[in-house]
Amino acid sequence: MKTLKNQTIYQCEYCNKRLLSKNGARIHEEQYCWNSPIVKQKRIDVIRACKHEWDTVWDYIPGEAVKEPQYDQCIKCGVTEMEFRRIEESA
Ligand SMILES: [Zn+2]
Ligand SMILES: [Zn+2]
Repeated sequence: MKTLKNQTIYQCEYCNKRLLSKNGARIHEEQYCWNSPIVKQKRIDVIRACKHEWDTVWDYIPGEAVKEPQYDQCIKCGVTEMEFRRIEESA
């Protein structure tokens, strides 16, 4: 079997990422591309449908060996409080 050198390259129309297969490009655009409005809308749908369980994310204070609370994040859908507020405001 020969491998053709002049393969068609598919390119994501949102982030210009190049993909080798049409199917791969479609999956990228629908599921993985963070510039894709399809992915963004899906993410918003998940966040809206989630009954959030908030947990506080702790991180180290720069230069110190102690942690301090940074922000709240839902342990179910992974939304942060900043992202959540942005979605609520745009609703
Ligand atoms: Zn993309
Ligand atoms: Zn959630």
